[in-house]
Amino acid sequence: MTVLTGKLLRIDLSNKRHFEEEIPVQYYRKFISARGLSAKYLYDELKPGTDPLGSENRLILSIGVLGGTGLQGFSKWCVMSKSPLTGTIFRSISGGNFGTWMKHAGYDLIIIQGKAPDLSYIYLDKSGVHFLGANHLAGLDPRKTQMILKETHGRHTESACIGLAGENHVRYAVITSGERTASRGGMGTVMGAKNLKAFAINVPVRKPVPFDKGRFKSLIKQQIDILKAHPRRKNMTTLGTPYITEVVNGLGILPVNNFQEGSIRDIQLISGDEFYQTKRSKAGCYQCMTRCGGMRDVTQGPFQGTQIDGPEYETIYAFGPLLGITDKSFTVNANALCDYYGLDTISAGVCIAFALELFERGIITTPDADDLDLTWGNQKTIFSMIERIGSRKGIGKLLGEGVKRAAERIGNGADHYAMHIKGLELPGYDPRGVKGYALSMATSNIGGSHMYGRPREELSGKVDPFTEKGKGASIAHVQKEQALEDSLIACTFGNSGLDTMLYSQFLTAATGLKSFEEPDNLLKIGERIVCLERCFNVREGLSRKDDSLPKRLTSEPLKNAGPSTGQMVRDLDPLLDEYYQALGYTNEGVPTIEKLRELDIEDAIKSIRNFI
Ligand code: SF4
Repeated sequence: MTVLTGKLLRIDLSNKRHFEEEIPVQYYRKFISARGLSAKYLYDELKPGTDPLGSENRLILSIGVLGGTGLQGFSKWCVMSKSPLTGTIFRSISGGNFGTWMKHAGYDLIIIQGKAPDLSYIYLDKSGVHFLGANHLAGLDPRKTQMILKETHGRHTESACIGLAGENHVRYAVITSGERTASRGGMGTVMGAKNLKAFAINVPVRKPVPFDKGRFKSLIKQQIDILKAHPRRKNMTTLGTPYITEVVNGLGILPVNNFQEGSIRDIQLISGDEFYQTKRSKAGCYQCMTRCGGMRDVTQGPFQGTQIDGPEYETIYAFGPLLGITDKSFTVNANALCDYYGLDTISAGVCIAFALELFERGIITTPDADDLDLTWGNQKTIFSMIERIGSRKGIGKLLGEGVKRAAERIGNGADHYAMHIKGLELPGYDPRGVKGYALSMATSNIGGSHMYGRPREELSGKVDPFTEKGKGASIAHVQKEQALEDSLIACTFGNSGLDTMLYSQFLTAATGLKSFEEPDNLLKIGERIVCLERCFNVREGLSRKDDSLPKRLTSEPLKNAGPSTGQMVRDLDPLLDEYYQALGYTNEGVPTIEKLRELDIEDAIKSIRNFI
């Protein structure tokens, strides 16, 4: 099997049928794989206005062309769909082994469409695809589900599955594989809406063979040497993403009490070193020497007495300072409870913080909240709220809709405290203190994500983070880079010391395709992907008005935020103008016909012509 499998598997759940289709080589040339290839198929196959929870929506699972080849940190997998949270195109990326098992099965993409009449799961083995009933798995957590699938189909089985939150259509349910999740945007909700509990694979190992074996082998060695020596890799291996907490606090952009403040005094209680003390063993994804994860003890809840891989920085933020908490064991336990239900920790934490602030301000009262005491830092209440969200009970039913919809239903000024962009709850970086992040999150085609384009130079202090001028071109650039990395897939935490030149060498040696030889062409592919994703959203009716920030960020200066104190985004418009100009979009944020021609995606002209 070559690195480009050239094949996709299409699953039609409604009719219990499956098809193998060829992936044209020009698709790889134009979109590489994973996020890029998935965007191409989703754009082509979904009509505007498709209900994300309807049977017409697609759930596209994919692995990068470099996955399973021996390169380190390239074996993650991607899920793409129309998000039930944002109504936009959405991609979420997960670790674990599942992606590589897709590759072993001989597929770069799996497209799932339709809806099973009853709760079901798919089992793929060397004899083919099996549509099986999943009533015996109903209501089970992802860990138990995977265990049963291994018992049923053999220890070598790897699966991607949902928990109760996905079955209950909580809008930010995750897909879990091993100890890792495709967390954001409700990809697990789409899976639940399709009545698909799990996708399990047990096939013999087939290692993809690179085009130029000798050259590829020496590139793997070169990559390992770079990683061995790189200080960021060392930090990631020892401390993992928890080391980011102190950095973000020092910059004054660690959101506290639902973005009311930007730093905490007791940061040492939840520092990377502090979490390191509780790390029981290393954890990580397939073929990754960085191994940024860490197993920690769970002392409360249904996973009590076991260990989980976590928490990541984003969970430390969302079940820590965001809720007025600096208790690391609580964060681990809250992480475990979210894993049990299959909930995105960022969205769950932001939804709970939203409720706590509404209570503080008298917009909701104790009877509205099932008689819970919604004061900041109340661990018992927060634990109970996670349970209510996961099982869609009481106040959890409303909060499971996400802050945007919850604020619309509550009214009375609640939207001022709903921290989201395009419906996606915000991550742990207050954009007021890093103007590039404000622009990147506002323009992100998937909503308020920290992973759509990271302003690395601002975060590292090489560029002034407070200046609003001159950010358009740099954010356009990092968004292109991220699209490229997500299409390989190069893990953001495991790609220390790598650059576009090396990606070009990896791709050329692996595939033999000449079009990957030019690093500039790879960035052009990144730009093409971002542009096609924007066209998807334009066709759904999104425009400049949706490239916006929560009111709090444009009207309240940051408080108690060290160097960022007093910062806010006074006027997003000049930043948007620069960004649109850098990408060749109109003032309304719509790609021009000339740009679509330049990027060789003329097919999109017909569907967005009326919006230009
Ligand atoms: S760096 Fe971490 S998240 Fe990335 S592939 Fe390695 S173990 Fe997985």
